[in-house]
Amino acid sequence: MTESLRDGFGRAHNNLRISVTDRCNLRCTYCMPEDAVFMERSELLTFEEIAHFVRVAATLGIDKVRLTGGEPLMRRDLPRLVELLSAIPGMRDIGLTTNGLLLADHATALRAAGLQRINISLDTLDPDRFRQVARRDGLEQTLEGIEAARQAGFRPIKINAVSMRGLTEHEVIPLARFARERGLEMRFIEYMPIGADQWDRQKVYFADEILEQLSREFGPVVPVEDADPRAPAQEFRYTDGGGCFGIIASVSRPFCMSCNRIRLTADGKLRNCLFALDEVDVKQLLRGNASDEKIADVIRGNVRDKWEGHEINTSRFIKPLRTMHAIGG
Ligand code: SAM
Repeated sequence: MTESLRDGFGRAHNNLRISVTDRCNLRCTYCMPEDAVFMERSELLTFEEIAHFVRVAATLGIDKVRLTGGEPLMRRDLPRLVELLSAIPGMRDIGLTTNGLLLADHATALRAAGLQRINISLDTLDPDRFRQVARRDGLEQTLEGIEAARQAGFRPIKINAVSMRGLTEHEVIPLARFARERGLEMRFIEYMPIGADQWDRQKVYFADEILEQLSREFGPVVPVEDADPRAPAQEFRYTDGGGCFGIIASVSRPFCMSCNRIRLTADGKLRNCLFALDEVDVKQLLRGNASDEKIADVIRGNVRDKWEGHEINTSRFIKPLRTMHAIGG
């Protein structure tokens, strides 16, 4: 019998994001500094430690996990972790968020290991803009990764693009067309203040602007009726039969009151919000032979203490010390 993890605002939590590394083969300006100093390998939770944590979390009602990073495919042998997690009783849904650069080599093994969902990040289809944003080359490899995920049978495949003014207004239509032609689901994510760069509200290309561009190009779009109200993306459907897309309006329409997520960093810290200023050290418990009951208590406490929301739109907002790559996106 599982219990439910509720915070002080009544929000039930069933969703855990697990970062498996802070290393990345790109250096996206909005996410991480060019000269990032990475965690020592000995600091990273082992796959067995991650699985132990998830086993305990599953008894508290966590039934959905997503592997992320850094770039999760930079962690060697990732399918083995997927296999360990798939075997945990109560685990209903295992997903991966990746930049796709290394995906062509691993898509089949990941699917065989039990990975169910895959989100691939792609901000632009233009090689020069890709290099500008990611400070590395990689467009060709990402496109190969997307194709490999399709061949391996992943459905749906979601393509994540960060929405930044100066970039995304040129990309909305090409990316949407790319996704529509391949049966992929595009998702635009409003640019958030969580990278190493100087964020400014003016630099966000907002959900309403994206919607306006898409409906001008492809005709009316309508909200998806039976969408999960707790999902961060607002889901829309093209009325011309072109499929669906999503918008994650973290800045213009925060969804904190329906948040059901907690996060485990690669170095074993538990966070109850992407923007949390405090975190709890669970690695110390996992390495110190703490009982499962003690680990469960710490998880319950972390959820209980969750704040109301991230306050990006207020003067009270404080940017966390860690940037996105070190938390897990
Ligand atoms: N490397 C993997 C990838 O690229 O998908 C996983 C980690 S990455 C941090 C996860 C997602 O966070 C990506 O889709 C990325 O674009 C997004 N992201 C990073 N920084 C962001 C920011 N400042 N605002 C909005 N989304 C951001």
